[in-house]
Amino acid sequence: MKINFIDLNRQYLEYKNDIDRQIQEVLASSSYILGGKVKELEGQLADYVGTTYAIGCASGTDALILALKVYGIKPADEVITTPFTFMATAEAIALLGAKPVFVDIEENTYNIDAAKIESKISNKTKGIVAVDIFGQCADYDTINEMAKRHNLFVIEDAAQAFGAEYRKRKAGSLADIGCTSFFPAKPFGCYGDGGMVFTDNKVFAETIFSLREHGKGEDKYNNIRIGMNSRLDTLQAAVLLAKFTHFSKELALRQEVARGYNQQLLNLVKTPFILEHNRSTFAQYCIRVNNRSGFQEKLKAKGIPTAVYYPKPLHLQTAFSYLGYHAGDFPVAEKVAKDIMALPLHPYLTPEEQEYIIYCIKE
Ligand SMILES: *Cc1c(COP(=O)(O)O)cnc(C)c1O
Repeated sequence: MKINFIDLNRQYLEYKNDIDRQIQEVLASSSYILGGKVKELEGQLADYVGTTYAIGCASGTDALILALKVYGIKPADEVITTPFTFMATAEAIALLGAKPVFVDIEENTYNIDAAKIESKISNKTKGIVAVDIFGQCADYDTINEMAKRHNLFVIEDAAQAFGAEYRKRKAGSLADIGCTSFFPAKPFGCYGDGGMVFTDNKVFAETIFSLREHGKGEDKYNNIRIGMNSRLDTLQAAVLLAKFTHFSKELALRQEVARGYNQQLLNLVKTPFILEHNRSTFAQYCIRVNNRSGFQEKLKAKGIPTAVYYPKPLHLQTAFSYLGYHAGDFPVAEKVAKDIMALPLHPYLTPEEQEYIIYCIKE
């Protein structure tokens, strides 16, 4: 049997009519930049996430940059985040000239260890970027409360968590500003790059609408700040509008696949630990194993693809060597990085495929 890690083709064939129709509408309208489709999507996703505003942008990375720019982050500022995440989280901080300050993760959820944040707060700290890793939300009650006490902002990197819930509230709405990504492999993906920023704050929203179009002001010919070109592509918004009608069903299917793995693998490998008050999107279904590379090789020989998120924590990446971190600085992140691996999970993984994967793992 040949299994796909993620099956975007099956997904396209499922909604082909809706997607093709949406794309044709854009082509027929010749309205290629922003326009009605982007606005419609922003409205639908703001309603879904539960924020007053949603601002489409060019990628999840840009969503983080736009959010950080709202706070006027500048060189010498420090922003606290996790070392166990995708490059973009800390890259956005560094790109604005600020210094990413890492805090180790919890060994059960792989999210930033909120109890360890306070000791890293200095007089240069401006805020915290928390990540909902693998689709499980971080500990926002603790993080927001601490941030409030120290007058820090909180940005939620929900790139992997669109659709996730924390105490019945949706990911993207859990901090001052939430960011998500529509990269094709994310739980809610388009057919290229795309991202969105969520907030309840009117001034923040207006600033981000302006920043994503070169800092434009009310007067079309007067730019009031230095911005960027980071619009959500209209064709991508059209794809997302078509896919959004199927999203809740897809999310339920992802959770069903995860449940299947949980039940069958519980006593064999370390399965994901999802807190009672969280509902994960399972952006990745990650297990922990001994002899990871040997295990991956054996599964590969059986036609089962696997992947490692993340083999190298950010504090050990060459790009961040200037920060002066060393191996041993974040023992939990480093330990997890050594034995974590992801199994195939997508809404269209058939019960037969999953049975085969589980059978091979057991073997
Ligand atoms: C994917 C991802 C991003 C970046 O999103 P892009 O749309 O690829 O720019 C940021 N943070 C996390 C945690 C991600 O997984």
